Amino acid sequence: VAKENGKGLFRYWKEVQHETIRHRLAVEAALQSALLRDEFRLFYQPILHITDGHIIGAEALLRWTSPELGEISPAVFIPVAEKSGVIREIGLWVLDRVLSDLKALNVKGQALEFIAVNVSTVQLIDPHFPAQALQKIRSAGIDPSRLEFEVTETGIALQGNPAGLLAPIKKIGVRIALDDFGTGNSSLRYLSDLPIDVLKIDGSFVKKTMVDSKAAVITHTIVSLALLLNLNIVAECIENEEERQTMYFMGVDRMQGFLFSPAVAFEEFSAMLSRNHSLPPIETIDSHP
Ligand code: C2E
Ligand code: MG
Ligand code: MG
Ligand code: MG
Repeated sequence: VAKENGKGLFRYWKEVQHETIRHRLAVEAALQSALLRDEFRLFYQPILHITDGHIIGAEALLRWTSPELGEISPAVFIPVAEKSGVIREIGLWVLDRVLSDLKALNVKGQALEFIAVNVSTVQLIDPHFPAQALQKIRSAGIDPSRLEFEVTETGIALQGNPAGLLAPIKKIGVRIALDDFGTGNSSLRYLSDLPIDVLKIDGSFVKKTMVDSKAAVITHTIVSLALLLNLNIVAECIENEEERQTMYFMGVDRMQGFLFSPAVAFEEFSAMLSRNHSLPPIETIDSHP
């Protein structure tokens, strides 16, 4: 009986595997025409000053609704787009969108400090990317320091020379954020050896810090080091006041997460800015008698 169960299980996993591959192929095929068919939307998630609760910037996050496959998470389609290489074109589309949205905010007098853009390692290793990006930023007339390029720790760690990989985009004048910190090796040397301006603490690490005192010590140490190196630090996935408070005590100066808002369409984000919508200021130690 055990043997038969084993066979059933094996057949089951084979089917799951085939199903996964079929889905991946379907996603890959649909992605090829998604740009032409204008199926992407760019949403914005506010990034707030952790203490006073005001919006200082936003992270641009891709949304894709395929007519055949429905809504698909970027966590699913970005890796597929990276494998096929189409992420290079998608990435340029994202940059164009962000630049024109920044211009629209300027016109409305909603001077946002920065917009953060996720840049795939596949884009970074493309030798044409820095010049393409610079050309787009220049012709939009946007100050490059108002853009933050988010690069992932694990992505650049796989490259032989991460500092060399970042040097050309640093030269453009954009700020660089190290994204997903805490999910890979979290090499402390990266903080001092890479030309980065911002450290983004991954949501999973924020959650761990809340429940595990050893993780809290590590977070505190990393944040302290990052502060000494003059980096800004963003805590991701802040969902309640307790998490906000804890990250504040760790020394984190910026936050994003559902406590304030998920990523929303540009019009809604712009409305938030004009309403001057914000979180109540955090209860700091010295606000107690
Ligand atoms: P990421 O860059 O680490 O982005 C943060 C993710 O956390 C986003 O997921 C965001 O919606 C989610 N998030 C934010 N606050 C909360 C919260 O309080 N709770 C929870 N549970 N989640 C929260 P999203 O939008 O699904 O994006 C997933 C990943 O896909 C991103 O992770 C990024 O790596 C990638 N991605 C998204 N847009 C782009 C893009 O334009 N280009 C590239 N290369 N990658 C992108
Ligand atoms: Mg990001
Ligand atoms: Mg992140
Ligand atoms: Mg992440």
